[in-house]
Amino acid sequence: MAKHICAICGAEVGLISEQKLADGNYICRKVCVKKCMKIFNKVEATLDSVNSHIEQLEFGTKAWNQIFVPLTKTKVKEEKLKRFGKNGELYVSPSTGLIALTENRYKFFIFGKSTVACVYRLADLYGYDYGYETVKNSEGKEETKHYCILMFRNTPGLYEVRMEIRSGEYEDMERYFNTLFGIQKTLRNIGNTIKQQTNAAKAIAEAVRAVKDGTMDETKAEATMDALNAAQYGDRTGWIAKADAALASVVK
Ligand SMILES: [Zn+2]
Repeated sequence: MAKHICAICGAEVGLISEQKLADGNYICRKVCVKKCMKIFNKVEATLDSVNSHIEQLEFGTKAWNQIFVPLTKTKVKEEKLKRFGKNGELYVSPSTGLIALTENRYKFFIFGKSTVACVYRLADLYGYDYGYETVKNSEGKEETKHYCILMFRNTPGLYEVRMEIRSGEYEDMERYFNTLFGIQKTLRNIGNTIKQQTNAAKAIAEAVRAVKDGTMDETKAEATMDALNAAQYGDRTGWIAKADAALASVVK
């Protein structure tokens, strides 16, 4: 039978010990598959995306240990973390502008617990949608599983996360993130929304004028896009600054 070579560590792999990737490469289950999160879809991955994901997880785990772990014990109200997910695996830290997706690992049974994490800037979270699927449980009964599909930007390795959540939890998540980004259309936030939409309308008008009189350039185009994004996703400049400062403090 044909033997393959793990494209990462070079180990010889066979039918049971190999994981085939979408680009035709193979990686070993014994070591290299375990370097990825369980939630990371290996079948759809390429060698490049696996390598990016491993890098992301190595850095994320350091950021988790250095930034998030101390915050799990904070007594300061403003620094408290918000948790989501069926097992509470998603941690949001508004005080640092970061968000961590964690996975617990055990050396043996429930012993020797360690946590790995992907840590992202909250500002890079661009989508949070609801999804569900109906599955048969071990007793043959139909059961609905609920998911939140998180979409990130600027996060090579893992852009889309389908995380299992509790029934009814999605509404809480949506409300929470909308409020964070100031895009909730409630009475309380409507001033903010109107301001952003007015800015966007002005930016479009200016862009149209600039195209007409031939003064449209890259800077003007970018300013227009920023205003449009702010109207749609909320102004995230503050979130980016906070998160970048926190991430720069992580000792590699
Ligand atoms: Zn390997």
